[in-house]
Amino acid sequence: MRFSEFLLATLKEIPQDAELISHQLMYRAGMIRKLGAGLYTWMPMGLRVLRKVEHIVREEMNKIGAIELLMPAVQPAELWQETNRWEKFGPQLLKIKDRNDRDYCFGPTHEEIITDLMRRELNSYKQLPTVVYQIQTKFRDEIRPRFGVMRAREFLMKDAYSFDIDTAKLEITYAKFYQAYCAIFKRLGLKYRAVLADTGAIGGNASHEFHVLADSGEDAIAYCEQSDYAANVELATRLEPPIPAQINALLNLASAPAKKLTATPGITSVPEQAKHMGLMPHQILKTLLVKGQTEKHPVVALLLRGDHELNEIKAQKHPLVASPFEWVSPEAVSHIAKCLPGYIGPIGLVGDIPLIGDPDVFALANFSCGANQSDYHYINVHWERDLPLPEKFDLRKVIEGDLSPDGKGTLRLCRGIEVGHIFQLGETYSEAMGLKVLDERGKQLVLQMGSYGIGVSRIVAASIEQHHDEKGIIWPDALAPFQVILLPMNYHKSHRIREAIDMLYQKLLNLGIDTVLDDRKERPGVMFNDAELIGIPHRLVLGERSLDAGNIEYQHRTESTTQHISLETIGDFLISKIKL
Ligand code: ATP
Ligand code: MG
Repeated sequence: MRFSEFLLATLKEIPQDAELISHQLMYRAGMIRKLGAGLYTWMPMGLRVLRKVEHIVREEMNKIGAIELLMPAVQPAELWQETNRWEKFGPQLLKIKDRNDRDYCFGPTHEEIITDLMRRELNSYKQLPTVVYQIQTKFRDEIRPRFGVMRAREFLMKDAYSFDIDTAKLEITYAKFYQAYCAIFKRLGLKYRAVLADTGAIGGNASHEFHVLADSGEDAIAYCEQSDYAANVELATRLEPPIPAQINALLNLASAPAKKLTATPGITSVPEQAKHMGLMPHQILKTLLVKGQTEKHPVVALLLRGDHELNEIKAQKHPLVASPFEWVSPEAVSHIAKCLPGYIGPIGLVGDIPLIGDPDVFALANFSCGANQSDYHYINVHWERDLPLPEKFDLRKVIEGDLSPDGKGTLRLCRGIEVGHIFQLGETYSEAMGLKVLDERGKQLVLQMGSYGIGVSRIVAASIEQHHDEKGIIWPDALAPFQVILLPMNYHKSHRIREAIDMLYQKLLNLGIDTVLDDRKERPGVMFNDAELIGIPHRLVLGERSLDAGNIEYQHRTESTTQHISLETIGDFLISKIKL
């Protein structure tokens, strides 16, 4: 490609709505242009990268025996009604009508369509497993489209669907996808983690999200550096630290000071309380009143260490805690406990309110807690002497340094961008839509399905989040819109330079090297800046002096020094440098 013939659209200014660096750089490098909220045109420069992502995804899908097909974007409502998702999917589903007033949607995903197809095409166990995929445009009417193509409304997804005779076979297929996804993200040059995900809403057995690690990510992830364990912070668990069985036995409670009521006027938060009492937040027990799930216990008290945060998703898994999770309002708290919120405590809490304690509170001794009396807290409190131990249940968000649940190390927290999601759906769709085949004995069996998504367009942005500097994008070779850029000095004035660079350009193309020649009538400064902004990994500069010496100047985008390479051997040199 010659830049003089290309729709190069680099810019200096940053669009106002571009918060993320990837959004800014994609815009400035001329990769995308905005049409409307969450709607983007892929400019030629951007499309070249998008196609490279597609290529890698397609190759790895083909390797595990997935077969490519292509389904319509517009889908009839009837199929979505069969699974109740016409209503359940919510406002993200873009509903449309045709000229005959028939209902359709623009597909946000294709489970219904593929299940409908397969109930017509599959009839015998001999056809299994069947695994198909497509790379296709989706539409989701996102409440807050933002960050450019990262959270768009129209975006490109690879979605795959698998059909197996039983759950054991589904697990084998799932494992193949898991491996294929690891291979894809490795080839894409991304730092990523496979993260245990919640299967709650859709049901099913197992689910992993693949996250690209980036500070700008919307999801919080806990992971273990010493092992493969990683989970969404909402789900992450920890190994309980060993607590001496009888902590009180180790203390001489007989001579320990008795629990004491202490005035704490106007002090209702843990940090204020700690400061006022000269304690550390971890010496404080906090008591949170939440709605209960049962009629017998409409209110439940959750006990946590003062420095820990409640994880509502974990809490709602306790049978006595309302699901979905709901706080008791401050007015109701005052009414129930006869004191202001902030002074609630487990000692003398009126009414039949069950106490559920996070494992860490069991290790507390000589702690402080609310006294159920406005403006007062207790100090010098001990379990079993002053109050019974509560029921133990994992309630809190994990923090850095917690023990990994696999016992192999400690947890760290980071942020991630979800670029892929694999899911063992089981019978959710096949049951609802009657997808069955005959087994060996001629019996009808409902098929076990899996679904496997990759955000193809999101990956382009996620990659930039991980690969950029103050000058622009730094593409890995596998994704670069062009692998090599040729920058001739004085192309339009020097006949010799023009001849030499045109020849080299042709030679590199013949070697199969993805090369662009900047033959524009621009100042060198502009050419250098554009090459860096666009992020082309390998740069070659040809000036009169190098040419006299039979050399060309090579520089990698990540390096600050240049090398002089003979024009004779530059092709081989590049081939050895380019890592695909
Ligand atoms: P998110 O939690 O980010 O909204 P999701 O869980 O709804 O994503 P899935 O239904 O799992 O997404 O879709 C598969 C993949 O499609 C996601 O892993 C993500 O990479 C991509 N994706 C989903 N929504 C968008 C979007 N609005 N813009 C770009 N890519 C998206
Ligand atoms: Mg998902």
